[in-house]
Amino acid sequence: MAEYINHEHDVLVIGAGGAGLRAAVEASAAGVKVAVITKSLLGKAHTVMAEGGIAAALSNVDDRDSWRVHFADTMRGGQYLNSWRMAELHAKEAPQCVHELESWGALFDRTPDGRILQRNFGGHRYPRLAHVGDRTGLEMIRTLQDHGIHLGLDVFMEYTVVTLLKDGDRVVGAFGYDRERGRFHLFRAKAVVLATGGIGRAYKITSNSWEYTGDGLALAYEAGAGLQDMEFVQFHPTGMIWPPSVCGLLVTEGVRGDGGVLRNKEGRRFMFDSIPPLYAGQTADNEEEGWRYTQGDKNARRPPELLTRDHVARCIRTEVREGRGSPHGGVFLDIAWIKDRIPNAPEHIKKKLPSMYHQFMQLAGIDITKEPMEVGPTTHYMMGGVRVDAESQMSDVPGLFAAGECAAGLHGANRLGGNSLSDLLVFGKRAGDYAARFAKEHSQGKVNPDDLAVAEMRTLKPFENRGPAPYIIQYALQETMQDLVGIVRTEEEMLQALSTIQEYKKQAESVGVPGHREYNSGWHTALDLQNLIVVSEMVTRAALERKESRGAQFRDDYPTKDDAYAGFNIVLSKGASGEVQLRREPIPPMTAELKQIIQEMK
Ligand SMILES: Cc1cc2nc3c(=O)[nH]c(=O)nc-3n(C[C@H](O)[C@H](O)[C@H](O)COP(=O)(O)OP(=O)(O)OC[C@H]3O[C@@H](n4cnc5c(N)ncnc54)[C@H](O)[C@@H]3O)c2cc1C
Repeated sequence: MAEYINHEHDVLVIGAGGAGLRAAVEASAAGVKVAVITKSLLGKAHTVMAEGGIAAALSNVDDRDSWRVHFADTMRGGQYLNSWRMAELHAKEAPQCVHELESWGALFDRTPDGRILQRNFGGHRYPRLAHVGDRTGLEMIRTLQDHGIHLGLDVFMEYTVVTLLKDGDRVVGAFGYDRERGRFHLFRAKAVVLATGGIGRAYKITSNSWEYTGDGLALAYEAGAGLQDMEFVQFHPTGMIWPPSVCGLLVTEGVRGDGGVLRNKEGRRFMFDSIPPLYAGQTADNEEEGWRYTQGDKNARRPPELLTRDHVARCIRTEVREGRGSPHGGVFLDIAWIKDRIPNAPEHIKKKLPSMYHQFMQLAGIDITKEPMEVGPTTHYMMGGVRVDAESQMSDVPGLFAAGECAAGLHGANRLGGNSLSDLLVFGKRAGDYAARFAKEHSQGKVNPDDLAVAEMRTLKPFENRGPAPYIIQYALQETMQDLVGIVRTEEEMLQALSTIQEYKKQAESVGVPGHREYNSGWHTALDLQNLIVVSEMVTRAALERKESRGAQFRDDYPTKDDAYAGFNIVLSKGASGEVQLRREPIPPMTAELKQIIQEMK
């Protein structure tokens, strides 16, 4: 048996993105001993990539905004499958969380009278995103990490958790390895918070970093927690599509919020052709009105480029399929055109969108102040995840909490841009608070040595196997998910995907890696692959079960929304003999106050 390096804490947070750090800060402030583990370096989590901003009804730019409007927008965006309680808490608590971040040192862009500036984003009725140019995630993570270090968090960088450990029903710790030496570590804790982000690497084209292999979801599933809304994978409409080496890289919605328009190869703004009835009253029906909206005219309605992401992504796909796409299979996103409207357009664009300017200049040789960008949909965000209690963020498994992108509930069938960063703050804070309370009420649990032996054996198996390299299966899986469980889905293709995934599952058991345990990326990929397979299977099963089109799920064989599917979430969990159990979990009735808000905002 191998030796383990032992660590003992009250609260263990797995993930050092916005959700993990916010949870760790809160737990630490409650006076318990906290550890944070991250697969990469502190400050490198996916959150750092966030560009557009944090959605919070501060009402600094438009005083008609309020938590009520934010709540109604979030529910409409999620097609009413959201946990309404989470949407309510989120809308009410996000402003305070942004101010808190500011009080810890975050420097946001400012209005002329010195308040936090807010920008337009898809699906938000009023300008709502607090931002720092297009580098908001960097500011957020910098602030949280400085604050957390000051509070005395123990940080474990380049450590990967491979198994959660249980004592009876309760989670009591985690087992993992460090990337540098490949040593095994046992983390004992009274409460564990999962904050591991999303699953983007299950797809071939994605805006997500290498860390997004669905680890938290797979860990929770294996530990007995339910996974909810797995069918809802968000395809962001605007990713780079050329050159191939940067395909999938995000082009922020902020470009459209600041006046950028989508055109097909004929130069036509095709988004005016298809405005969904749910949004018709709030959407401009001419270009002039759309432009006025982006310039802050309170009497104008938003341009159709700022409709929800699921809709815009499908419209782009239609243009391409019907032969009106750009040379590399996307459409054109044009911000340069604003030079016809404002005198200092190039400087204005560079100031508002500095990262986009550099991204296109350096990676594609395109000056976005002069030429349009070529863009197309990219796998971006996972609405589904660990099923949690709205107030405490505890999963179905006692002692196991989840927050941020790896948790489900807030966004329903589709997330609005900017609602993730606020999600991390609001529910990261709640998860940290409740995990600390749980830790105070419980003692350390017992770790079963047999569980450790099994975890160790599974982790080292790729060194003994003689099968294919893990990259081969990973690549094939990504192709399968992209082609058969992508933006547009059918039963036939998904059944094909499901049976192929079963094959990959068998092959993944035998993948082999050469070399030793120090910084062996083949070994790490072999272990991550297990998680990618779990989440890919869950996405496919849930998408097969939902025989309708709603939010991010579009079924070519069931192309319309069906009321029969409006009242429940799909939840998947692991049965006693290892089988996948699927249930339809009814959404509880909404309070009268919230119902009324939705009626008023329609
Ligand atoms: C390019 C881009 C731009 C975006 N822009 C915006 C925006 O403007 N506004 C907005 O609201 N949202 C935006 N999003 C979405 C948002 O950034 C993410 O949803 C959010 O940052 C997720 O935060 P998180 O804390 O849940 O996870 P992350 O920030 O990804 O952190 C996950 C952490 O978990 C760790 N981890 C994972 N698995 C393990 C394991 N097995 N063991 C140990 N550690 C592990 C990782 O190393 C990492 O530290 C954007 C996303 C992208 C890709």
